Amino acid sequence: MFLESEDIIFKAEKKLSDRFEFIKDIAQYNQEKVLNAFKNCNVASRHFAGTSGYGYDDIGRDTLARVFSDIFQSESALVSPNLVSGTHALTVMLFGVLRPFDTLLSISGQPYDTLNDVLTGKNVGSLSDFSINFDKIDLVLNNEFKPIFDDKKIVKYLSEKTVKAVFIQRSRGYNLRQAISMEEVARIIKIVKEKSPQTLVLVDNCYGEFVEKTEPTEFGADAVAGSLIKNMGGGIIPTGGYIVGKSDVISQISYRLTSPSIGNEVGSYQYGYMPFYQGVFLAPVTVKNALKGALLFAEAFSSLGFEVLPKSSDIQHDIVTSIKFKTENQLIEFCRAIQHSSPIDSFLTLEPWDMPGYNHKVIMAAGTFVQGASIELSADAPIKEPYVAYFQGALTYEHAKIALKGALDCVQKYI
Ligand SMILES: *Cc1c(COP(=O)(O)O)cnc(C)c1O
Repeated sequence: MFLESEDIIFKAEKKLSDRFEFIKDIAQYNQEKVLNAFKNCNVASRHFAGTSGYGYDDIGRDTLARVFSDIFQSESALVSPNLVSGTHALTVMLFGVLRPFDTLLSISGQPYDTLNDVLTGKNVGSLSDFSINFDKIDLVLNNEFKPIFDDKKIVKYLSEKTVKAVFIQRSRGYNLRQAISMEEVARIIKIVKEKSPQTLVLVDNCYGEFVEKTEPTEFGADAVAGSLIKNMGGGIIPTGGYIVGKSDVISQISYRLTSPSIGNEVGSYQYGYMPFYQGVFLAPVTVKNALKGALLFAEAFSSLGFEVLPKSSDIQHDIVTSIKFKTENQLIEFCRAIQHSSPIDSFLTLEPWDMPGYNHKVIMAAGTFVQGASIELSADAPIKEPYVAYFQGALTYEHAKIALKGALDCVQKYI
């Protein structure tokens, strides 16, 4: 039966009004947090000026780092357009603290696909090429795909081996699970630190920023990294990544970002930092819009009988909605519909493709202003069973709603 997309959306929106209030409250809290960071750092228009060459005494760069530190309640921060992506920020974080024969233990299962080669690639300058050991302990999922850490295995591992750092990925990546709640992250950090105080806690924060009122640094994470073209960029920051955390850890990482002789005293950006400040200022509200869009997609698709994560009644811990399709064709058509509802490159018809860093063919809808920015309307999927699309973003809730209509019209033809 073909249902009118408008009706589905109208009903979904009605049902979600309480959930939207909940999201609004978080955005209100985080907007104040960000405003206070700007005030505490006395941000002024001179901080927007660009620099060139070495970038010595670049106050725009240094003040931006202080704003991030304030937001994350961390001691120190690296915020840089020279970090080319989230993967790069995570790579620099790992290489900054790990040394030959150290062990890195992921306690949230296999990390995000683009880190595979970073961890265990052969002859690519991976951690394993430098004799750094990688091990992992899977998350435990309940029947609603909510993850909790496997305390028993983690504690056992920490008591038997010396672990230089544990690694936590908050968001789901391409796994059929929910994101990890901050409450759960806080709980495990406490356990890790009690069992092994010298073990560092490193966090992949991609897609998690501003989704809740707190961040991992507030619970003792030693270093936390993410992308500036996802949540933290508010849809405005043109490129870059960030790493926040304890001062000694961040200095070690800064020697890897640039060079052991110069750390974070250098790094210029000729075009100026205004979009970086504007982006982070808008980020809590951009994340709010994305969270509302994500719930609307979840509710609408589940009303048609598709499995979705999170369900519209679940508390969100990242900005993503996973939608499980019945066939490869349906998955591809969904991504194509998202592309056709995009402000940029709406005329393209997507094809699955081999992308650097991914082991399967992937399809990526990102008709975005900032290339590949997945805080903007976007959907991506590895072409493998189960056929799950990962939807996220839209700079405005209204845009998500329009795209949803297009996606429902299209997908219903392929049921
Ligand atoms: C997007 C993402 C990354 C990688 O970020 P890129 O900017 O795409 O390199 C890493 N981890 C998670 C959980 C992500 O969502």
